[in-house]
Amino acid sequence: MAGIYIHIPFCKQSCSYCDFHFSTSLKHKSDLIRALVKEIEERKNQLTSPINTLYFGGGTPSLLDVDDLKLIVDAIYKNYAIADKIEFTLECNPDDLSQEKLKEFNNVGVNRLSIGVQSFNNKELKFFNRVHNSSEAESSIKRSQDIGFDNITIDLIYGSPILTDEIWLNNLQKVNDFRVPHLSAYGLTVESKTALAHQIKLGQTPNLNDEKMIAQFKTLIQKTKEFGLTQYEVSNFGREDFYSQHNSNYWKGAEYLGFGPSAHSYTNNKRFWNVSNNIKYINGITNNQGYYEEENIDEQTSFNEYILTRLRTIWGIELDYIKNNYSQEINTHFEQELAPYLNSSYLQQINNKVVLTDEGILITDKITSDLFYV
Ligand code: SF4
Repeated sequence: MAGIYIHIPFCKQSCSYCDFHFSTSLKHKSDLIRALVKEIEERKNQLTSPINTLYFGGGTPSLLDVDDLKLIVDAIYKNYAIADKIEFTLECNPDDLSQEKLKEFNNVGVNRLSIGVQSFNNKELKFFNRVHNSSEAESSIKRSQDIGFDNITIDLIYGSPILTDEIWLNNLQKVNDFRVPHLSAYGLTVESKTALAHQIKLGQTPNLNDEKMIAQFKTLIQKTKEFGLTQYEVSNFGREDFYSQHNSNYWKGAEYLGFGPSAHSYTNNKRFWNVSNNIKYINGITNNQGYYEEENIDEQTSFNEYILTRLRTIWGIELDYIKNNYSQEINTHFEQELAPYLNSSYLQQINNKVVLTDEGILITDKITSDLFYV
């Protein structure tokens, strides 16, 4: 099985922390949709397995008119083998989710909504420069459920300088109040060239506090457990039938094609990434010029990517997989680095797999970099 990712690089305004690729000008939207459709058609022979997940991310895909969305979806169905039952996710911002738009999304085949809530607190939403307010966040979830979307995930952010423990508890409580079956929760990071980085540099905003971040992460783990959500990946929590199939496939090493500016693909042991610039992307596709770079994945990269993705999940690192797929040199390195961790309280071996413990999850990045083959 394989996946398709479509990057929609438009947003209404810039969130203060965001370094994804997007533009707040819709001037080139029609040209970009045409280029996307052309890219979808031209790359149709790059995947041999049927598609079982379709994921529109961005940017803000919910900004699209349904006609534009349909053009892209039709091109995919026309050019690729699609499994009978697919997971079709659309990332949405709460302020876009009118009843009419939700019905249109439903008619196009969307069956999973990923709603960018980030916080249910107005002060924090303003701090993030989000377009929506907390009542729009709540009503968009409710409206989506009333229309019949039961597969909903929301995003929340913790660790911001103005997120108190009380607001964080309240944000988490809403997940349970609305019976949302899946949550992605991310610790805020300060990316260079963002408004947030600038504010911190000027002293207008305090820097992030690591201790507070860890305390809020622990609260997240505890509360989601109470709500019956499984932490199946470090930042992802869900009821079993609602795990993200798209991301799970990615973590399990399945092939995927990414279309649109800045989108990445993985197929035939190669990685491709499209240019992160709307005009260069449109011109590249339209004039049949290069619009992507590619690299062969060598053994070292493959091993490191396996460690990076699998350690973060409940599926863990499979010892047989390492033994059967990597050289003696890499296996020797892996056994040496793994041994002290297996004697610690950070990792545990369950039959053939190695997984993080509750304590280990707090230092995932450190363990990952120790296991890397460099
Ligand atoms: S809506 Fe999403 S992609 Fe757009 S600026 Fe905000 S965080 Fe970034």
